[in-house]
Amino acid sequence: MKKQFAIIGLGRFGGSVTKELVEQGADVLAIDSDRTKADEFRDIATQVVIANATDEQVLRELDIPLYEHVVVAIGNDIEASILATLLLSEMGVKHICVKAETDHHEKVLKKIGAHRVLHPEREMGARLAHHLLSANIVDYIELSSQDTIIEAVATPSLIGQTIQDLNIRALYGCTIIAIRRQGRLMAAPQANEVIQAEDVLVLLGPKKAIYAFEKDFI
Ligand code: ATP
Ligand code: ATP
Ligand code: CA
Repeated sequence: MKKQFAIIGLGRFGGSVTKELVEQGADVLAIDSDRTKADEFRDIATQVVIANATDEQVLRELDIPLYEHVVVAIGNDIEASILATLLLSEMGVKHICVKAETDHHEKVLKKIGAHRVLHPEREMGARLAHHLLSANIVDYIELSSQDTIIEAVATPSLIGQTIQDLNIRALYGCTIIAIRRQGRLMAAPQANEVIQAEDVLVLLGPKKAIYAFEKDFI
């Protein structure tokens, strides 16, 4: 059975989540209180509904509790975002993901049962900063407030050495979880693996450990 997704709020964020899910073959119920916005998605989403997500009756009529994932992507109207999240939480929705505008907003969302809170602008900002700092960092993903994953192109100081020689985990506290080499992903490389030119290293670890490694090698 296909996973069921409902997206509330079709701004740039909710809109792009919707488009990507549909492109990947998922069924998406798209909800927006604004008619013009909703109409934009008529030919994109599986089902489009003009509705106010802070109205419990409406959410029940749409069978929202049956959806496996519900995303709340209401931005400016923080009150509406909180109220919609609270209703979803009370209805027992399994996975509630909400876009937050501020730290206070995030704190409240977590208290009322959001399972995942995102700050797209902040997260993209942090990613961009890493790209700007080093052309060798090809990606940066924040897993939590502590842990991150980076993908970095091997620099001359790494090439020709084994993971063991570099003693990365012991010295820095981060782990090479994979190496991308010539289009192939080598997961969990052995300690005796020799790093080659153009390898992309995928490193996982606490932010501080990753920064220290970046500073010395990337
Ligand atoms: P983005 O940055 O993702 O473009 P935003 O953070 O600026 O969006 P808004 O434009 O405020 O967020 O809201 C996103 C969408 O949510 C809008 O299209 C708006 O019509 C819709 N929306 C706002 N309140 C509700 C509500 N109560 N129920 C359903 N949709 C809503
Ligand atoms: P550990 O207890 O840290 O796993 P180990 O005694 O099992 O180390 P090896 O697996 O042979 O020893 O690795 C030697 C050293 O190489 C480790 O201490 C670690 O610092 C580093 N190392 C091994 N694998 C990785 C990896 N995937 N990423 C980063 N460093 C690694
Ligand atoms: Ca916004």
